[in-house]
Amino acid sequence: MISNETWKYECLGCLHEWQEEFEVGRSSDGHGGAVVLYSRLGQRCISPWAELFCPSCGGYDVKILPTGWAEARPLPRQRYAELEMIFRLRRLHAY
Ligand SMILES: [Zn+2]
Repeated sequence: MISNETWKYECLGCLHEWQEEFEVGRSSDGHGGAVVLYSRLGQRCISPWAELFCPSCGGYDVKILPTGWAEARPLPRQRYAELEMIFRLRRLHAY
C-alpha cells in the first residue's frame, strides 16, 4: 500500500521554507507489527523527520511544519517532544 505524503519544513536559522514529497509504503512485518518504508523519487530513504538540514544554509535547526498529512493526523504531543529532544541532541552532536 503506497501513499504520498508532503512534508513541509522551516529552517529556524535562515527562515527558508521548503517541502518534500515522500512515497510511503505501509505493510505488515508478518508478526503483527507495521512496517513503514519511505522513499523519495523512487529511492528508499530515511524517515522524513530524520537527518534534517536546511538546503539553503545547511543548518540543523529545522522545524517540521504541519501540513497535509500532519494536519489530518497531527502527531501526538509526545512525538513532538521526542523530535525536539532528537533535534536538541543533534545540535549538541550527541545523537
Ligand atoms: Zn537555513
